[in-house]
Amino acid sequence: MAKPKNKKELLQTPKGMRDILPHDFLYWKAIETKAEDIARSYGFKPIRTPHVEKTELFGLTLGETSDIVEKQMYAFKTRGGDALVLRPEGTVPIMRAYFEHGMHTWPQPVMLYYSGSFFRHENPQRGRYREFGQFGVEIIGEESGLADAYIIRVFALILQEAGFKKFTVHINTLGDKECRPEFRKELVAYYRRKVNSICKDCKRRLKENPLRLLDCKNPMCVEIRADAPQMMSYACPSCRAHFKTVLEFLDDFEIPYTLDPHLVRGLDYYSRTVFEIFTDPDAKEKPEKKSEETPASAAEEPEKKAGQNEGRIALGSGGRYDTLAETMGDRKAAGVGGALGLDRIVDELKERKITPFKEKAPVVFLVQIGAQAKRKSLVLFEQLRKSRMGVAQSFSKDNLRAQLELANKLGAAFALIIGQKEALDGTVIVRDMGSGTQESVYQKKVLDHLKKKMKNG
Ligand SMILES: [Zn+2]
Ligand SMILES: [Zn+2]
Repeated sequence: MAKPKNKKELLQTPKGMRDILPHDFLYWKAIETKAEDIARSYGFKPIRTPHVEKTELFGLTLGETSDIVEKQMYAFKTRGGDALVLRPEGTVPIMRAYFEHGMHTWPQPVMLYYSGSFFRHENPQRGRYREFGQFGVEIIGEESGLADAYIIRVFALILQEAGFKKFTVHINTLGDKECRPEFRKELVAYYRRKVNSICKDCKRRLKENPLRLLDCKNPMCVEIRADAPQMMSYACPSCRAHFKTVLEFLDDFEIPYTLDPHLVRGLDYYSRTVFEIFTDPDAKEKPEKKSEETPASAAEEPEKKAGQNEGRIALGSGGRYDTLAETMGDRKAAGVGGALGLDRIVDELKERKITPFKEKAPVVFLVQIGAQAKRKSLVLFEQLRKSRMGVAQSFSKDNLRAQLELANKLGAAFALIIGQKEALDGTVIVRDMGSGTQESVYQKKVLDHLKKKMKNG
């Protein structure tokens, strides 16, 4: 094994990875808890799949020429010779699990939610990490456009409850096997005529993945895109009707949306509905300056901040995947789903100074002076914990004043003080942190005493 150049490197996360420290973790936990509560009450059930899957599963389903499969997968050979990857997204593993466990024989649709880490080897940018957290929901076994709107509704509720006041759903239809080929043909014909004015990547996309032409952020290509054919004009009657249903339900749910004919998403498995949810930059306290003229390096094409679209930031996305099951082994199952990007949601909340949780102050702080008091106070501490009264203590500070200062800092209503004398005679001093008054109480009775005091306010 290669030795690190210097030991300092050992003390750094790998490139594009990061630690979530205690204070940030509270944001993550709060969002996940809200998301789970809402998903559960809307009928979704939890599922957890492995972080590792077979490599070929994603090649078949996401498309061999998709950016993820071509460039971004953490693929490796195990000691036993299996070709595996760290999962780059959540829908494919869940569809795999759906068939592996015979969920197609359960009452349909099957509604699942998940939360966890996913991995893509991308160029690290602000707000984009190589290990990233997603909260996702899937409805499998349902063709109706109601399911599409239902997914978006659940995301909208989660974002609202997390504290986002303004966001917009960008939505488009990609058609299906009936109508997309015609659109694709026209799209290719259009871009062939403009081939000298598109970027290098788009020249490649034109051959391999023409839908992605619409996704290019290069200003040159954005200009050409304006007159490109739009899928809606080619949608067959059933795709049209489906899209109309989705939009009608969004109207009923009072979810703001924008029709975005250039929204395509990067994966092969999407059909019909695709969507992305953007925050409104106006909602920010300090709008960021756009830095479009500062590409990261001369070699790269200029690109905006990860996930940005005209200054908006994508918090979530998804779509319908009615043909995914077929690519996985001649199965049939309609489905729709999506995921919220937890990293970006947390970053945006912090930037907006929105705290999605309350840090509860302990009611009681246990002050212990001397070794004997420390031993005695453990029993009392456990009683208080069991009573669900918020209780805190400090193991390392032995001095009365330092411990009272900490109790004050944490916002405790009472300090319980056990010194040498109290440890011997089984009492405890109850100090009201507000008024500073103190009284001596038997340890056995302290719980009742505190409850009474709290009731009397
Ligand atoms: Zn381009
Ligand atoms: Zn169609």
